[in-house]
Amino acid sequence: MGEKEQSGKPAGHQERICKLKKDGKLEEIDRLELRPIVYCNKCKAKANHPSYLCNPRALKAPKVQKV
Ligand SMILES: [Zn+2]
Repeated sequence: MGEKEQSGKPAGHQERICKLKKDGKLEEIDRLELRPIVYCNKCKAKANHPSYLCNPRALKAPKVQKV
């Protein structure tokens, strides 16, 4: 028995929102921007994971106080 891998994108490879933006794939971007934690310093795209961006920056720092 063996499960066939779903043809399409291989695991581990992720299209960058920066590229999707260029390609006009707004639906894909919509999914990835659901809960943005980072933004791209270059193209101002937002994403929920830094690996989706070419120049990721933290959107907002968590409140952590060290004394
Ligand atoms: Zn970018």
